[in-house]
Amino acid sequence: NKRIKIKHLLENPTPEENATVMGWVRTKRSNKHVTFIAINDGSCIQNYQCVADPELIPDDVLRKANTGACLKITGTIVASQGAGQSTEIQAVSIVVLGEADPDKFPIQPKKHSLEFLRENAHLRLRTNTFGAIFRVRNQLSFAIHQYFHEKGFVYIHSPIVTASDAEGAGETFQVTTLDLNNPPKNEAGEIDFQEDFFGRATNLTVSGQLEGELAAMALSEVYTFGPTFRAENSNTTRHLAEFWMVEPEMAFFDAEDNQNLAEDFLQFIIGFALKHCKEDLEFLDKRAAEEDSVKKADQRSDMGLLERLSFVTQNEFVRITYTEAFEILKASKPNKKKKFAYLIEEWGTDLQSEHERFLVEKHFKKPVIITDYPKEIKSFYMKQNEDGKTVAAMDILFPGIGEIVGGSQREENLEKLCQRMDELEISKEEMWWYLDTRKFGTAPHAGFGLGFERLVLFVTGMSNIRDVIPFPRTPGNAEF
Ligand code: ATP
Ligand code: MG
Ligand code: MG
Ligand code: MG
Repeated sequence: NKRIKIKHLLENPTPEENATVMGWVRTKRSNKHVTFIAINDGSCIQNYQCVADPELIPDDVLRKANTGACLKITGTIVASQGAGQSTEIQAVSIVVLGEADPDKFPIQPKKHSLEFLRENAHLRLRTNTFGAIFRVRNQLSFAIHQYFHEKGFVYIHSPIVTASDAEGAGETFQVTTLDLNNPPKNEAGEIDFQEDFFGRATNLTVSGQLEGELAAMALSEVYTFGPTFRAENSNTTRHLAEFWMVEPEMAFFDAEDNQNLAEDFLQFIIGFALKHCKEDLEFLDKRAAEEDSVKKADQRSDMGLLERLSFVTQNEFVRITYTEAFEILKASKPNKKKKFAYLIEEWGTDLQSEHERFLVEKHFKKPVIITDYPKEIKSFYMKQNEDGKTVAAMDILFPGIGEIVGGSQREENLEKLCQRMDELEISKEEMWWYLDTRKFGTAPHAGFGLGFERLVLFVTGMSNIRDVIPFPRTPGNAEF
């Protein structure tokens, strides 16, 4: 395969004979003397120009080289006269690898709505916007591994099928091999999961945290980065049923160490994207600015995308407790249009997304780390503070996104943990393996979960989470 990638051709503008370029046609323009074909192979945002002489290239080939068709072009790389491109290929031969009927191929070189493209998720990767998004997504996942690798963390693969609902939120997808039309029943007439593949009821994981804790209690500093599944019945622009989570877990870290790591980590990976995805981010920046509706709805800040990203890498995050956040919200008035209902009545209620967005976008205009939440609104495993009312939790809120990270120092004290589980009626028998970490060589430890798609949303400036994962899973939507 002698194919040269377009990215390589653009970065190495050297004349060359007998070169081969392959890719999909974006546009075709013809006059009597010459046909210009712009092709893209996904290696970068730019198209590459092919110049085809109708004396050399048969008519029927040129006719078939429509938008969407796949071509193999062999020819000579020469300096280009056209603006914005260093070289172009003068075709000696063109092979149409795959035709695309112009009356049927849905992705034409005009601007399609994101909704239309969502309906054509199988082909939207052929657009500049989605090519850019998924290249950025790729660089971000690489940056995550690089960050932890350099810090000596061990990458742990937590299981996809589990028997626990770590968050206790009851949003799990059940996994079963039973014939649900005719399931085995126990004496009480309930489905008998002892007959199931694993000899018990199982579900898709909602978080790798608990397994991450087991690993941290042996390897000290670990992280998981895998798919997680939540049967979220809410249809929001921030929730998917299948999303990826990055979950570092560290022994010997306290709540403050955890906050420091999370801030440094986010700044590193966003900085990495700025450095390694320059062209794609510049394209997405322009796109976001052009998109009128986005501009109006965008509360992120007055800054452009690139500015906003470098701002986050260069400025310390604000750190406040839930109680301080509560006081700020209590003192604020709902604005005239009532677009934001800032008001929060009672200490102890969870922050709604409009509260989070007010704090981040209007009040501080910076990422905010909120700590020490009331224990009632957080999970059982979080370390209980001495006040008896709050836990050592942290949420990190980003402009335009709201919660991007949730984490905490964990309760390492067996007695306190058991007491909390009893209060919440969580079965200690079923969680015996988790409690063993506290029974045998317990240690202070902490960790957090970053919603990977929320990070990609922030970095790409997109506004709907369905647009930053290649094949989104949402209620009623799992076509392929
Ligand atoms: P939210 O309040 O937005 O529903 P959460 O508090 O339920 O989030 P956590 O259990 O704290 O979420 O999970 C850790 C992180 O995973 C969140 O901070 C968020 O970035 C991400 N996340 C949670 N649920 C989803 C989802 N359904 N789709 C995409 N990302 C999610
Ligand atoms: Mg949730
Ligand atoms: Mg939350
Ligand atoms: Mg959370």
